[in-house]
Amino acid sequence: MRYIPVIGLEIHAEMLTHSKVFCTCSAEFGGEENSRVCPRCAGLPGTLPVLNQGAVTLAAKAGFALDCTVNPYSAFDRKNYFYPDLPKAYQITQFEKPICTDGKVNIRGKDIRINRIHIEEDAGKLIHDEYEGISFADYNRCGVPLIEIVTEPDLRSADEAKEFVEEVALRLKYAGVCDARMEQGSLRVDVNISLMPYGSSEFGTRAEIKNLNSLKSIVRAIEYEIERQTEILDKGEKVVQETRRFNDNHGNTKALRSKEEAHDYRYFPEPDIPPVLFSEAELSAIRESMPEMPQKRFERYTKEYGLPEKDAELLIGDKDLSDFYDAAARCNPSYKAIANLVLVELLRNLNDSGMCISDVKFSPANLAQIVKLSDEGKISKNAAKDILKILFESGGDPLEIAKANNLIMESDASALESIIDKVIAENADSVESYKSGNQKVFGFLMGQVVKEAGKGANPQLARDLLMKKLAD
Ligand code: ADP
Ligand code: MG
Ligand code: ZN
Repeated sequence: MRYIPVIGLEIHAEMLTHSKVFCTCSAEFGGEENSRVCPRCAGLPGTLPVLNQGAVTLAAKAGFALDCTVNPYSAFDRKNYFYPDLPKAYQITQFEKPICTDGKVNIRGKDIRINRIHIEEDAGKLIHDEYEGISFADYNRCGVPLIEIVTEPDLRSADEAKEFVEEVALRLKYAGVCDARMEQGSLRVDVNISLMPYGSSEFGTRAEIKNLNSLKSIVRAIEYEIERQTEILDKGEKVVQETRRFNDNHGNTKALRSKEEAHDYRYFPEPDIPPVLFSEAELSAIRESMPEMPQKRFERYTKEYGLPEKDAELLIGDKDLSDFYDAAARCNPSYKAIANLVLVELLRNLNDSGMCISDVKFSPANLAQIVKLSDEGKISKNAAKDILKILFESGGDPLEIAKANNLIMESDASALESIIDKVIAENADSVESYKSGNQKVFGFLMGQVVKEAGKGANPQLARDLLMKKLAD
């Protein structure tokens, strides 16, 4: 039988606050194990949480970025469970009254509804040493502020799920909510998936695959589950509602716990944190403080800057690259030429060197200046590439680099003229042959001129002058 996959996601995103959500420890990624922990985030009795207002504002921004209603009233609850990465033995989260509800994100012309976004605290990290058979606990991540974004089961394929996660990640990045570095775990996804027979509209029983931390594993886990559940249903058996873990090495999923073994979280209202209240004015102020979102930027690039849609999309898809481009375009409104240099040469150099845009040794202004030199006819297109490469390797000033490498074009006609006269005098045979109709020799003569004049020769000017002299 053929089945339609039904998929809903829970996306955990770490928010970009400096400090943790209920204490003043640093929320930054990494750090020596257990060096960013205090009595509060270690869950010692007698300590009280104090809500980080920055985290609340970022969660509201996430709501606006994903087209949600940001609620004027939300509140915290305790979710009780014991696991060694959670020293308090409960997680502070929002259960009954989440900060945002009812959002949507459009993917391929289809709205994927967002049920809710709530604020919660991250747990620590356990590092298992399989060889020694022991586990280490690192509590640096305890209390890092998270949002959890829960979708309705509106996705229907692995590709759709991937595109959705990419779009959400991009919007969170633009909104300044989350850096969305899946490889560092700052964005993690739980996939809920069930199958229903074609033509049916009744959802099947779902499995939940926890904690996927790359787009690739999201896709592979979904594809594996589709196969696994199809086999079960084809045999006339029933899918069990359970939580499963995806194994990256084997590309399969394994049961962690079934519904019967599921925790009873014994939620109750968190007594130590007052509810979060927003006035209308506060909500509008946050909305107005939102940075430019990808769709707006797309319009600016295509309508104001005249970039082709494809180029605009390529730039916007990488926020850091797009920010770099923006900064360069502010220095020199040669929008298309800058986009070309960024999308072709800059990207090539980044790929070749394995560097990120944030690692480069030169500024957007430097790149804008290369384009300016080229626009003014001071350097050739090829020289622009060479200068960029040198900037890449050792930084510096584009004009100085051009001078030091003889890349400033000889626009002085008289200097070129004497070079051309010399070439004509030294190649009498070729000149004769050209004059009697052999057009191909022109290329050779042009080559001689360029060789004499060096890379700095303005090719257009040299060409025109050579033509003129040969016609005399
Ligand atoms: P829980 O609280 O047990 O995790 P929720 O109702 O909050 O359950 O749903 C969690 C996620 O599961 C949501 O993203 C939702 O869209 C998805 N989901 C719910 N039912 C199904 C189903 N039958 N098939 C696939 N996904 C589902
Ligand atoms: Mg769940
Ligand atoms: Zn702390």
